[in-house]
Amino acid sequence: MNEPSSGSSPTSSGAQRHKRAPSAAELDPNNSKRQKADPQDDKDSILIQHPNFWYPDGNVVVRVENYLFRIHSSFLKMKSEFFVEFFEGGAGTAESDGSQEWKVEGCKVYELDGKKRHFTALLDALYSGISYPNTADAKSFSSFTLACLLRASHYRNVPSCKKWAINQLVRDYGCSIDYADHDDICGRFATRFIVLSRECDETRLLVSAFYQLLGMPKLDILYTKVYIPEDADKNYFHEEEVWEEDEFVLSQQEITTAIALLQYANRRWWEFLSKPPTVPCPEKSKCSQIMKRIWHTNVVGAQDSDSAQEPLGGIQKVIDIDWEKKGICGGCVQEYRADWKNKRIQIWEGVGNTVLGLQPEETTAVANIS
Ligand SMILES: [Zn+2]
Repeated sequence: MNEPSSGSSPTSSGAQRHKRAPSAAELDPNNSKRQKADPQDDKDSILIQHPNFWYPDGNVVVRVENYLFRIHSSFLKMKSEFFVEFFEGGAGTAESDGSQEWKVEGCKVYELDGKKRHFTALLDALYSGISYPNTADAKSFSSFTLACLLRASHYRNVPSCKKWAINQLVRDYGCSIDYADHDDICGRFATRFIVLSRECDETRLLVSAFYQLLGMPKLDILYTKVYIPEDADKNYFHEEEVWEEDEFVLSQQEITTAIALLQYANRRWWEFLSKPPTVPCPEKSKCSQIMKRIWHTNVVGAQDSDSAQEPLGGIQKVIDIDWEKKGICGGCVQEYRADWKNKRIQIWEGVGNTVLGLQPEETTAVANIS
């Protein structure tokens, strides 16, 4: 499986967030003794030793984009079958002129497709050991770094890192109804998480990510602005944050699903609005009748057009109304609220099974870390 190569223009949120400023020593291209196979390949002209992954005792050099990594092939082979094939199968071997091996500092050079930032996330995880659960304060990992690691570990078949990355994403960005609040950060990351899930065959972020689309201004599913959360500096970025278009632009199928979700959400919301609760009153009061009378003023009439798209938040607002103050007895209020909470859960589950067509275990299960 090949990782998609770098293509469209990147969007960057600024260089100020470097945790590791690249003070890379540029390799003199003459010293690399490399003949250009294709004169159009500008990447050949400047090759940069990666400042963090240039181990003097490394036995191979891997080139990704215009960066060179001097690393340990036995270590990577131990982590993934992909690297066994890559280093031993000959696919990655770089040649200087069609017959001679290309060497840098005596190390054989291999060429790996895909994006540098994905590869660095993987090396970072493997060499620093973050793939091992509970050894790091994972709260501080940025979604950018986790997304890069998930992509890299998916394409390079490193199951331990893939499991770790998806568990962190699920934990921090959610697969439960608690993450339905559209003010949540995930709203800005919704399309990125949808694309990420598609690429990496993951389903657990999907309900949350799709639902968050409803909270985006005017259902802006092509939202392209880079969003910088206020606490960005508290998060760990393995390198400068960059998202390319192919990492956040939805497919036709996903846009169709988003429209189906919008219809579903509207339908469920109007169903809710059209039926005031009719639970029998435990205190034999006339709560049902009172409710019938005040429902329209307090609920239906209180809606603005925005919340029609977003039933979970809408129902939560109804739950939060002080119904006792409006003449409903305590027993009924309790019953109503329990019923409304159930309705929220049903709607949430419906996004997974009705709109997205997922099985329950695909939406809620968090993989056990063994
Ligand atoms: Zn009552």
